[in-house]
Amino acid sequence: VIDQIKSNLIIILMVIALVIGVVVGLTVRNVPGWEYYQKRKIFYLRFPGDLLMNMLKMLILPLIISSIISSLASLNAKASGRMGLRAVVYYLTTTFAAVIMGIILVLAIQPGKKGGEITRSGQSKEQEPLEALFDLIRNCFPDNLVESSFKRQTTVTGSFKYEAMVDIPATNVSNATTELRNLTADSPYIEKANGMNILGIVVFSIFLGAVLASMGEAGKPLNDFFECLHQATMKLTMLVIWYSPIGIIFLVATKLIEMEDPSTVFIQLGYYMLTVLAGLAAHGLIVLPLVFLVATRNNPLRFMYNMLKALLTAWGTASSSATLPVTMECLEHRNKVDIRVAKFVAPIGATINMDGTALYEAVAAIFIAQVNGVGLNVGEVITVSLTATAAAIGAAGIPSAGLVTMTIVLTAVGLPTEDVSLILAIDWFLDRFRTAINVLGDSFGAGIVDHLSKEDLAAFDHMQELEMGVT
Ligand code: ASP
Repeated sequence: VIDQIKSNLIIILMVIALVIGVVVGLTVRNVPGWEYYQKRKIFYLRFPGDLLMNMLKMLILPLIISSIISSLASLNAKASGRMGLRAVVYYLTTTFAAVIMGIILVLAIQPGKKGGEITRSGQSKEQEPLEALFDLIRNCFPDNLVESSFKRQTTVTGSFKYEAMVDIPATNVSNATTELRNLTADSPYIEKANGMNILGIVVFSIFLGAVLASMGEAGKPLNDFFECLHQATMKLTMLVIWYSPIGIIFLVATKLIEMEDPSTVFIQLGYYMLTVLAGLAAHGLIVLPLVFLVATRNNPLRFMYNMLKALLTAWGTASSSATLPVTMECLEHRNKVDIRVAKFVAPIGATINMDGTALYEAVAAIFIAQVNGVGLNVGEVITVSLTATAAAIGAAGIPSAGLVTMTIVLTAVGLPTEDVSLILAIDWFLDRFRTAINVLGDSFGAGIVDHLSKEDLAAFDHMQELEMGVT
């Protein structure tokens, strides 16, 4: 009961923090001297928020490694294989469903044909879909495990600038690819981008966990170690959650001060935002709950309410990776998802399952085509749907990652990649909503896999008991 009260109290505090953040942000931006271009002042003001981001991100590495390894190491190949298969099927189908939803809406609403000019605020790079695919696979096998906790590899080709993004302070912890670069290269080469290569860590953990499981008794010391690390990290998570309302106030307030004048948001962009938000709402509030209801026969609304802390954190941080500790906490303690399922499904979901991002990528690409007066044929729309799914899988769970992988979708259908700049100004806003939907999708996924795996897990537990009885 006390836990229940505490948990509700945190939700209330987080909501209050959001409201305070919005009010403070909107008030302060009208105070002379605090205009959006006063980056340094805003940077200082964000300090408590940066601390929250850092604390959450600090937990990611121990949490992912310990969760995945201890989950797999405590199961046998059969149980974990079936659990993994269910998760992957869920990830792919729901992500693709989100893309379809986005495409239907953007074709129906036609935001890019609503008139009014949008200003372009910068340039972006090009990326060949094939190179992006190579990057994705290459990052699954990091050359250096320690380094991969802070560096990802990307193929770089052609000449590009990140003009639009450079005024983000270099110390900004959240954005992986916002370095100022102005370079020309004829042939592609691999470079290390900032930002964690979480995918590599996930893949390593899956393999290590599976190997430990196959080692039986000999693997036990390491299994116990990771089990203990997991529990300790979750305790740390609780401490960070108590701090999170403070961090959220400053993250939200500074974002609002920093945003450019909303009057520069033109009609087309308004409709574009509306399309993305409508799609996210339809996917998160109708499609996913229905899938959950059909698959588990449990109440999706209660499940969602229990995830509220994670959803608010996702909105506040715009990062599903940073939200992962909170997501795990809600899954384990509020929704009582089997710990082995939560430990396996949630970290992988936070890394590769991004329904909100996929939907947004599809809408944005077709919106850009509409603005350019380019009609896409059926084949091209299908290409958009496939590359948007891939781009969402490849996007890291960090703020605005979806905007960066957008270039894959645009390149695939021959649209100008610098047109990402059309949607740059308002991306921070949509990012928060799509991140919340990403986290919601991961959570429902854990709930569904938990439900479907109950028999397997019970059979496994039964077998364990029998073996214990024998020895
Ligand atoms: N910010 C999103 C996330 O962390 C990714 C994106 O930019 O779409 O889930």
